[in-house]
Amino acid sequence: MGFFIKRIPLAITALLLLSSLLPSFAQAGLFFKKTTIMGTDLEITVSASEASSAEAAFSSVSEEMARIESLMSEWMEGTPVAEVNRNAGIKPVAVPDEVFKIISDAVLISEASNGAFDITWASMRGLWSFAPGSERLPSKEEVDGRIGLVDYRDIVLDRSKKTVFLKRKYMAIGLGAIAKGYAVDRAMKRIISRGIKDAIVKAGGDMRVQGRGDDGPWKIGIRDPRDKDKLLATLDVSNISISTSGDYERFFVKDGVLYHHIMDPKTGYPARGTRSVTIIGPDTETTDALSTAVFVMGVEAGMELIKSLKGIEAVIVDSSGLIHSSPGISLSSPGGLGRP
Ligand code: ADP
Ligand code: MG
Repeated sequence: MGFFIKRIPLAITALLLLSSLLPSFAQAGLFFKKTTIMGTDLEITVSASEASSAEAAFSSVSEEMARIESLMSEWMEGTPVAEVNRNAGIKPVAVPDEVFKIISDAVLISEASNGAFDITWASMRGLWSFAPGSERLPSKEEVDGRIGLVDYRDIVLDRSKKTVFLKRKYMAIGLGAIAKGYAVDRAMKRIISRGIKDAIVKAGGDMRVQGRGDDGPWKIGIRDPRDKDKLLATLDVSNISISTSGDYERFFVKDGVLYHHIMDPKTGYPARGTRSVTIIGPDTETTDALSTAVFVMGVEAGMELIKSLKGIEAVIVDSSGLIHSSPGISLSSPGGLGRP
């Protein structure tokens, strides 16, 4: 079986489960499974009295994740999102309620972030590639020729018919910065519906933390974006969502310049103001989208947005390595805060 009772191995992305280091952890009946879905590592931890109920929860999560991927992927042929893209500039496409809701939410985040978050970034598809071995840096002409297609205001939503229409030909949407968070939320709902109270679901940089570990709240570490063995801060958390967007997740370096996968929709080039953004909030769909939005907005405008939203907190590492946190967050640091 793909899971085991015992210590949780250290996570490989920005968020880290420190509770796994507690000696008592192994006795709690915690089951862990790691797999790959939606192009990222999925890690599930559940507290259960028997292996069979943990196993049932794991398969329920995998099933739900696969269902969401078949709705929201822009790469898989025939998904509602792929159909919307195929009909860009041609006609509106009716989509399932869930897909309509995510696209509507994405447009709201675009409005709140003044276009820093924009699912029509996908109109640039093919120009950039961050896949190891086939990295691609587009020419300035290519970027300039395509950037005009990136504009969330050209997504036409019909609330009564539940249709989505991309106004111009060759436009495309991509839900890479919001669908994973939504999938994590749905996965946790499946776990809870099976009577499990304490659990963690983590898909890449998006994580939902439910209930508690042995000694109280789960402990989460935020990694230094330039030194993966170093922690910037630790947080005690429970019943909350946490997402991190970082410039070190998917990137390449060319002529000494780092190019990464979070795009500034105004320029068509990677956003430059921050190295990593961690958002804490009530649901993972929101924290996922906001981590990308604030990453693009930068410290000043990003913090302004976070302060205006109730129940949302942020930890931002700016381009010089300085850490900024929103007023509602208390960081306990094991050292390294404010490293220049
Ligand atoms: P990760 O995928 O590592 O969790 P994010 O949640 O920040 O990181 O999402 C980054 C992904 O979102 C990119 O790979 C791309 O698919 C998409 N994306 C890039 N720039 C933007 C943007 N400005 N607005 C919305 N989506 C974006
Ligand atoms: Mg995101």
